[in-house]
This record gives sequence, structure tokens and C-alpha cells, in this order.
Amino acid sequence: MNELMGRVLSFAKQVFPNQSDLYSRLASDGQSPKALMISCADSRVVPEQIMQAGPGDLFVCRNAGNIVPPYATQNGGVSSTVEYAVEALGVHDIIVCGHSDCGAMKALMNPEMLENMPNVAAWLRHSQAAKSVVERGYPGVENGERVRAASLENINVQIAHLRTHPSVAAAIARGEVALHGWFFDIAYGQVLALDGVSNQFMPIREDAPLPVALPASPRVAAERLEAAE
Ligand code: ZN
Repeated sequence: MNELMGRVLSFAKQVFPNQSDLYSRLASDGQSPKALMISCADSRVVPEQIMQAGPGDLFVCRNAGNIVPPYATQNGGVSSTVEYAVEALGVHDIIVCGHSDCGAMKALMNPEMLENMPNVAAWLRHSQAAKSVVERGYPGVENGERVRAASLENINVQIAHLRTHPSVAAAIARGEVALHGWFFDIAYGQVLALDGVSNQFMPIREDAPLPVALPASPRVAAERLEAAE
């Protein structure tokens, strides 16, 4: 047997017995995860490890390029996962997590790589705005730096897409959800977080507040009218 496949046995024999109380509680009480993370499917990005999350802590949706299609596009797994996380589970934080050396972002910037991958090519249309920003807003940036810039801009684009989802828009209006944009640097194990005020990615530091893309606070365009007594 493939060595990796065999590890499921060691989970059952060695890991689960030490956490059986937790699993038992989760089985009877159900889940109430603290956050939704939308990350790339890359095997080197492990959301639970990065966040030191245990069973029940984190609702996770992974796909090539950590993409959130805008609401108006065809229904799919990401849209349904976002809606369920907000409406049914009531998560208060949604994190879009990109990363260094991302194959999806390399393909976005070098579409000739996608000759035999029509589905990936179509999927990456949801990141086209990031490519456009890099090509027209980052003069003189070359190769590896272009891919890194695209990865960071793609996080921005997907956060904008998140806000087109009615469940997310309503939760933001009520001040119940904060949006986060993270970039995981595989070589250094470092997470950069998007600061929505400066629009820059900054290292997460112990001695500084966590940079947030969109903090939770009520946001409506019109005045709130108090209900008539
Ligand atoms: Zn990736």
C-alpha cells in the first residue's frame, strides 16, 4: 500500500483515541467553526496547520487559485460553501488565502501553460482582473515578481467577489463578518495580511494588531431609520 494511504490506519489507531472526547462532542453537538478559509488546493498550503486549528475550528474551501466566483456566475461549490458558512454556521471571519509559487497564478500570467487544461483556463477567468492589474499597473516587474504580484492582487480580486454574494453582503452590512486577505510564503512559513486601509500586505506580528482587509462594522449606504414605536 502507498505509504500515505496507510497513514489512515495510524490515525484510527494512534491519533483518534487521544481525541475521541473532542470528536464525540463534535458528533453530538455539531460544528460551530470560528472561520471560513478559502485557500488554494496546493499541497504545501495546509490551512489547519497554518492556523493551528483542530477538528471543528475551521470551515475550509480549497480550489486552484483560491478563487471565489462572483455571485452572478453559475452556481458552484465555492458559492454554496460561502453561503452555508455565513447563513447556517454564522462564521464571523472569512479568509482568502493565496500563497507563493502558486501554479494557478503562474498559469494565469503564462496562459500557454494551459494548452491541455481547458477547465483550468476557464476557471482562471475569475482571476483575469488580477492579471490586468499587474500588466498595466506594475510597469517593469518581471517573471517571478509578476507571479507574486498577481497572487497578491488575486487575493484582492477574490475579496471583491466575496462581497457580491448576498449572504456576505448582508452580514457585512450588519457588521457581523470581517474579511481577511492572507498570503502564505511557503519558503519562510510567513503569513502576510492585507490591510484594507493602506491596501498593502503586512507581516502578522505579535506586537501589532492583525491587519484586516475589511473589519466587521455595520456598513450601509443610507441612513438607518429606527423602527417606529
Ligand atoms: Zn496555488
